Amino acid sequence: MVTADQLLVKQINKSIVLNTIRKKEVISRAGIAEFTGLNKSTVSFLVDELIKEGLVKEIGLGESKGGRKPIMLMINDKGGCVIGVDLGVNYILSVLTDLVGNVLWEKKIDIRLGEDKEKVIGLLMRLIEEAMENAPRTVNGIMGIGVGVPGIVDYRKGLVLMAPNLKWKDVPLKEMVEERFKIKVYIDNEANVGAVGEKWFGIGVECSNFIYVSAGIGIGTGIIINGALYRGASGLAGEIGHVTINIYDELCNCGNIGCWENYASERALLDYMRAQLKQGKQDDYINSESIGDLNALRIIDFAHKGSNIAIEGLKEIGRNLGIGIVNLINIFNPEMVIIGNTLSLAEDIILPEILDEVSKKCFIYKYHDVKIRTSKLNFHAGAMGAVSLVISKLFAHPEF
Ligand SMILES: [Zn+2]
Repeated sequence: MVTADQLLVKQINKSIVLNTIRKKEVISRAGIAEFTGLNKSTVSFLVDELIKEGLVKEIGLGESKGGRKPIMLMINDKGGCVIGVDLGVNYILSVLTDLVGNVLWEKKIDIRLGEDKEKVIGLLMRLIEEAMENAPRTVNGIMGIGVGVPGIVDYRKGLVLMAPNLKWKDVPLKEMVEERFKIKVYIDNEANVGAVGEKWFGIGVECSNFIYVSAGIGIGTGIIINGALYRGASGLAGEIGHVTINIYDELCNCGNIGCWENYASERALLDYMRAQLKQGKQDDYINSESIGDLNALRIIDFAHKGSNIAIEGLKEIGRNLGIGIVNLINIFNPEMVIIGNTLSLAEDIILPEILDEVSKKCFIYKYHDVKIRTSKLNFHAGAMGAVSLVISKLFAHPEF
């Protein structure tokens, strides 16, 4: 008779073995036993199970430390695939990866701001379908779908409670996607997802305490404390884009006033640029006729080509990002702040402004050097984060 406790111990040990192989990339059974302190027969038994399940593979003989040459092990990249979807406010990006996060296929489509909910969900389903059509043959097929959503999410139920920039309320997205594809689905707020992505695949890998700032149409943050995502009492932590930085300001669409994201997001950049153009400012790249066509990517592109108005706009947004980041550092004392999403593409312009604000205004920065970096996953942070929602579950519970 196997007791529930014994099953749990086995489950935990199996997850330890699987994660050791992932972290070491190539390791022998004896190496795992030595590294984890588990006894050799337990390791052998669990490795055999993981091989049968297609999650681990043998790759030939390694160097001997005296005696027989050991058989080396790796995560089986052909063990299965994962789909990650970054549902943005004005785009959807879908990626298909193997079990170690190598991107095998990807596609990004633009969506119109304020597009009808049913239409957006239809496009999202179609992109998942396309990812499945492009999946190679693997042992376990598609092992899960992760979706990052720009709003507050009940991640346990997979319910989008409110996505102000999409104008969604109470959308049971997990249920809808699971119903359609009969595959396990994980949904979370896009900034949480981005933070998890940085922890698994980005510059946060070696870092236990960091804040990921998703600076896109709005601003969201994902908070990693002691190596794990901090969700708060009911999973809604991190809505720091809606922290007040101006008590004399107008209403935000969240119901508060003077929210950070109204000063430091893509939308704030557009508002700033429009105001400049209305005042008659123009240069060789941007003039009053371009108002309708402007978007953040285009402004960043113009700035890199030398448009002074675009550079000034991005500097202004950089300073405003810095003001919110000062607050974050004062609250959390993180090792690192990672800036992701669209505005991170203007790293060369915004980062010096942020650093300047932080060094001038942040109280604890004088005593503790915080690294401020931009995401190297850039536009993939959200989608890779959605992938890591699935992969983190898989590596925590190899049986799933
Ligand atoms: Zn707000």
